[in-house]
Amino acid sequence: MISKDRYLSSHKWDLMLKALPYKLPTTVVGHSVLNQPINAHRFGNGAKKVLLWSQMHGNESTTTRALLDLFNHLNTSKGEKLLTCITMMIIPQLNPDGAKAYTRVNANDVDLNRDALDLSQPESRALKEVFDAFQPNFCFNLHGQRSIFAAGKMGKSASLSFLAPAADAQNNLSPARIQAMQLIAHIHKNLQKDIPDQIGRYDDTFNPNCFGDRFTSLGVPTLLYEAGHNGLDYERHFTKKMILDALVLGLNAIENGEFLNCSMAEYDQIPENKKDYVDIIIKNVDIRTETGFFKKQELAVYYQEVKKGESVVFKPVCHSFSKKIDLLAHRVLNAEKILKLSEVEFNEGRTIDIF
Ligand SMILES: [Zn+2]
Repeated sequence: MISKDRYLSSHKWDLMLKALPYKLPTTVVGHSVLNQPINAHRFGNGAKKVLLWSQMHGNESTTTRALLDLFNHLNTSKGEKLLTCITMMIIPQLNPDGAKAYTRVNANDVDLNRDALDLSQPESRALKEVFDAFQPNFCFNLHGQRSIFAAGKMGKSASLSFLAPAADAQNNLSPARIQAMQLIAHIHKNLQKDIPDQIGRYDDTFNPNCFGDRFTSLGVPTLLYEAGHNGLDYERHFTKKMILDALVLGLNAIENGEFLNCSMAEYDQIPENKKDYVDIIIKNVDIRTETGFFKKQELAVYYQEVKKGESVVFKPVCHSFSKKIDLLAHRVLNAEKILKLSEVEFNEGRTIDIF
């Protein structure tokens, strides 16, 4: 299986922006390790300021693609009205080198979202400098998550996940954290009709090296948005639409203050993200390994994402097998009904023989 859309280099992104029928206000706010420009776009002139950044992990492109739809939204009459109340600063690709290489890390092999205190990397420094100069009232930290997450123990696939990060090691409910929780609760409530029980919440252990925790501790409500997985939509077109809806819901709520009606209890009720999914479970497989021959097993398979040219290839890799796999899958196959096992392409990363 292959996806063209999931691969989003800065070159490809630039072409997408150039194809827009309007020009984006653009400034260069820094340069990557490999000297690619880091661009930011500023919109509106409202009193409430919102800073958004995406693709600080280069292989998480879905939220960046949703930003293109957000730009289009901002160009409508509804968007224009929003921008009279809100000023936005958007950095679509904080890690252009990682975007090009399709890696989480930057060109120095550093996870930028563990560099919020050290600021050892030019990309991290660019984000902190924009934060200091812009002085946002809210931040949206945009990411993409693997297809392994369930919204709650053995729940539905987490199509979106959120976190209102902790502000300190004691998990105190600081004013900034409370506002982030209320805003997430508002978004969660309003998306239930589209993705019922498919929104998860991340664990809130404090990590000041993460930008969300760092900015929350500096007093700015910061929301982690994670584009997740839905069904067999590996291109993540559906998730992109849900991210756009979640962004517009968040921005509108900041504008009209509606989220302040939500309670922290509503945030706490969002089910926690659990690693309960694999991509495929194949039933009734006979398996031979170095240690023996196992009949009628259930085999769990996950996809490893590998850049190939201008695309992402999903390589099936064996996760585990047993008589009864205690996991959920986006696709369940029965080996007895598969005419060719090559359908699931077990050529790469194979550690066992399947019959
Ligand atoms: Zn990420």
